[in-house]
Amino acid sequence: MRKKIVAGNWKMNTTFDEGEALVKGIVSLKAGVAADVTLVVAPPFTHLNCLAEDLEKAGVGLSAQNCANHESGAYTGEVSAKMLASVGAKYCILGHSERREYYGETNATLAEKVALVLQNNLIPIFCVGEKLAEREANRHFEVVKSQLEVVLNLSADDFAKIVIAYEPVWAIGTGKTATSAQAQEIHAFIRKTLSEKFAAAAEQTSILYGGSCNPKNAAELFAQPDVDGGLIGGAALVAENFIAIAQSF
Ligand code: PEP
Repeated sequence: MRKKIVAGNWKMNTTFDEGEALVKGIVSLKAGVAADVTLVVAPPFTHLNCLAEDLEKAGVGLSAQNCANHESGAYTGEVSAKMLASVGAKYCILGHSERREYYGETNATLAEKVALVLQNNLIPIFCVGEKLAEREANRHFEVVKSQLEVVLNLSADDFAKIVIAYEPVWAIGTGKTATSAQAQEIHAFIRKTLSEKFAAAAEQTSILYGGSCNPKNAAELFAQPDVDGGLIGGAALVAENFIAIAQSF
């Protein structure tokens, strides 16, 4: 059985007080979520340390949204995977399309980040997804396949630990969700691509859908055989919506 996961990517939103209130809301509603669904929240770096204890007690996973591609040292403004682990993070989102687009992340830098995250016993939530022009040119399979090279180069042991998130860039924050058929088609393609290298492990890899997922469309998306949950942006900023999505399996 693959793990069902609903992860909230808060991006650069919430002051510390707002973040604390959001966690309180999620924790207070969590009892309504099936026990086989793993909840994860990814607040900004500044909130991680102080939110870790409450989340741990409630059985909600703590994630960062990014980390440095270096172990330590003279990299002003950066946060290492080791630092994240030291404050209780269990996951780290890597390769989000906003990081690729605005901060120039490439397969090479992402390979370094994935390695450091795994070395520090964090689980990478590795994001892939095509831009609108790439989908319109029917290049989405090729684009996603080239992004997957980073995880295809892992050892079998490391590959078995990762989570993938498919997030079409044209669906992120736009209100335009992929149809459930589009999601299933590319999630099945991702699993097939992974299984060519990691036959058995790929069957166990959780592949999350992200892109304008909300309480209204989550059930249809999550009903697809290769959609194992969601990476949620905007809707994760309201506890009731985040929990309603997690109740959509
Ligand atoms: C995201 O950025 O990871 C995301 C899925 O955003 P949204 O749900 O707002 O489209």
